[in-house]
Amino acid sequence: MKAAVLYGPGDVRVEDLEDPIPGPGEIVVQTLAALTCGTDRKVVTRGYHDKMLQPPCVFGHEGAGRVAAVGEGVTSFRIGDGVVAANSAPCGQCRACLRGRHSLCKDLLFWNGVFAEAYLVPARVVEKNVLRLGEVAPQDAAMTEPLACCLKGVLDAGVGEGDRVLVIGAGAIGLLLIRLCQLKGAHVAAAARRPEALHMATAHGANEAAQILFAEPGLTLSGTADPLFDVVFDAGGAAQTASLAVRSAARGGTVSLFAGCPSGTKVEIDVTRVHYDEIRILGSFHHDPAAFREAFRLIETKSIVPADFVSARKTLAELPDSLINPEVGSLKTLVVF
Ligand SMILES: [Zn+2]
Ligand SMILES: [Zn+2]
Repeated sequence: MKAAVLYGPGDVRVEDLEDPIPGPGEIVVQTLAALTCGTDRKVVTRGYHDKMLQPPCVFGHEGAGRVAAVGEGVTSFRIGDGVVAANSAPCGQCRACLRGRHSLCKDLLFWNGVFAEAYLVPARVVEKNVLRLGEVAPQDAAMTEPLACCLKGVLDAGVGEGDRVLVIGAGAIGLLLIRLCQLKGAHVAAAARRPEALHMATAHGANEAAQILFAEPGLTLSGTADPLFDVVFDAGGAAQTASLAVRSAARGGTVSLFAGCPSGTKVEIDVTRVHYDEIRILGSFHHDPAAFREAFRLIETKSIVPADFVSARKTLAELPDSLINPEVGSLKTLVVF
């Protein structure tokens, strides 16, 4: 099979690899659609990788396809089934899992490899976190994972009807957050630096757009009547945007530091405001099986239209270049097989 193999920063090669063979409890999926994620770009451009990605390796974690082979003992899936597999599964036994905090599982099992004609899904994921496509097209189902992360973020932050929400960052993730907050009945403002990104956010349904300006001592917002919000998401993932998020919370507001910052990133916080204005600052990481199922349901019911968050369509052969040299303002890239 053909697969995109990550060798290191700026080095991705499409190569011929052996077809994967499923072990006990595992399935092999023939890839029908895959999507690029901000994490993939970070991996390719900065060489960032966690313990699960040790180059050279296959990568990519948002995909859907058709079961091509099943391992010994697999009874819930058969060859030919359309499926979308989450890129992780919690253990279900550690303290975090028993407390319902599955994204914090001590032994969260990750896998990668959808940028290939076929990929292997580990047994624990097959058991806990694979859904059947039914009527959903593979290219739509591939959006389940990023949508599940955003959905968990929106639920963690407790977005409700009538809330004034600010989403900082108008890439694919920011746009998904905007859409999900609107489904909750919130009034959503989008904040971004580039006017094109603000137009995009408005086209995706943001009720207002605020331009992020560089000023001393930090970023400020321009163009919004009231710069303080009930819920603020930082989908920018930098110290400056996290700081802007905290400063943009209204009294009683909630701040979700949604995007991951480089490790060691520090932000100064006016704790007086946090105390007297009862501001909650929280993090939201990854997804859990419940969010994965609910995200899929939102796609199935067309509450979320995945194509709205895709800006390019590439073949596997074209993928390395589009990851290494992304277009400014691009959303997700759909890899077709
Ligand atoms: Zn992702
Ligand atoms: Zn666990």
